[in-house]
Amino acid sequence: MIQEEITIIGAGIGGLTLASALEKKGIPFQLYEQADAFEALGYGIQISPNVVRVLWELGLEKQLENISHSCLGFELRSFNSDEILAQWQLKNDIPYYQCRRSDLHQLLFDSIEDKSRIHFSQRLESYQQQNDQLSLSWQDAQPKTANALVAADGVRSQVRSSLFPQYKAQYAGYAAYRAILPFQNQYRSFWGKATVWMGKNHHVVLYPNGNQHNSTPWLNLVLVVKDGNWNEQGWAIPADKQTVAEDFANQSEQLQEILADMVSSPELCFKWGLFIHQPLPYWSQGKVTLLGDAAHPMLPFQAQGAAMAIEDAYVLAEYLERENNIEKAFLNYQQTRIKRTTKVQQVSRNNADIFHASGVKAVIRNFGLGLVSATVPNLLNEKTAWIYNYDPVSNLHR
Ligand code: FAD
Repeated sequence: MIQEEITIIGAGIGGLTLASALEKKGIPFQLYEQADAFEALGYGIQISPNVVRVLWELGLEKQLENISHSCLGFELRSFNSDEILAQWQLKNDIPYYQCRRSDLHQLLFDSIEDKSRIHFSQRLESYQQQNDQLSLSWQDAQPKTANALVAADGVRSQVRSSLFPQYKAQYAGYAAYRAILPFQNQYRSFWGKATVWMGKNHHVVLYPNGNQHNSTPWLNLVLVVKDGNWNEQGWAIPADKQTVAEDFANQSEQLQEILADMVSSPELCFKWGLFIHQPLPYWSQGKVTLLGDAAHPMLPFQAQGAAMAIEDAYVLAEYLERENNIEKAFLNYQQTRIKRTTKVQQVSRNNADIFHASGVKAVIRNFGLGLVSATVPNLLNEKTAWIYNYDPVSNLHR
């Protein structure tokens, strides 16, 4: 087992999961976060069975259930006519959950017992590998040395920029809005599932989240539109709700009502631009490695960004426990993870074309979905089985 201290950058979903897993194994770590305090950001998040397995393994089964809504199936509808194109039930023994991203973040934060290892207001500016040691420079703090560096510093990773100075994200041509509403009785037909409306330039994903027994449940909305121009990569830019509702006006009565509720609700609606990130050739160099969005940022169209960060963290912690050599542990981790995350990045990207298909492509898509959903609906589960049935826990324990 690695005895040297692991320095983690970023107390987001991936960094916190890694810290939690290392603490349970007795591997020393320090976690540095640029924000001044613990900030649980975001609206809804889907937690598919592949991630639920990992969170259970970390002993968080009850806590996760307490913050989650159980998704039992999916429904795909036409954005223009509201026609149901396909619907199917999930057939997995492990739950598929939906919760507030802030609740998941808080749960991971709470799972770390020794909070003195978490340091806020620490923004890593650069690092250098010298012989066997790393030297780290910070925005407003004295330099530090480190034995090993895990960069879980998100989509705009500083460490990734140092490893790959030429790396540039490319605007995907889509803007997305996220909104949240307190769950009301009139939304009950959306309970227990995720609903997606698909159209030429628009698609909408809607699902409840939160646990109705423990807290107020919410209805989460992600609205995606083709949009030619974008310059900012931030994802918390307040949007004008009335303009969003007008832009997404369509023939679905239920969606219209929800959008009207969104406009009158006090909750803010945020917009962000979607960027395509090409897969990286490697993540680990010497005693430095990348994790989560820093390693493989992806479009949100398969709802697997946080899932991959959590899987990464679990696998990395396992190798740090099995190996005595940090560089070897980092290389094994990269080797185990890179193929799967690259494939998920690719699928997330392809889903954009499926959701926004128009003309003949849309006719073929709708016909195919209708046929499969009416005759062999389980085929739709089989299509995602490689994602949801994946078990990083038993794969590594064998
Ligand atoms: P983050 O959670 O972004 O954390 C990075 C952390 O690093 C931050 O706290 C940041 O402040 C810190 N940091 C950055 N730079 C520095 C620095 N230089 N020094 C110190 N600290 C630094 N994924 C799913 O699996 N399911 C979903 O349903 C889903 N829905 C999503 C919906 C939206 C609207 C968005 C935007 C994303 C969604 N995702 C979803 C993706 C998911 O949120 C991300 O993939 C996930 O948060 C990545 O985790 P991370 O730890 O890599 O990065």
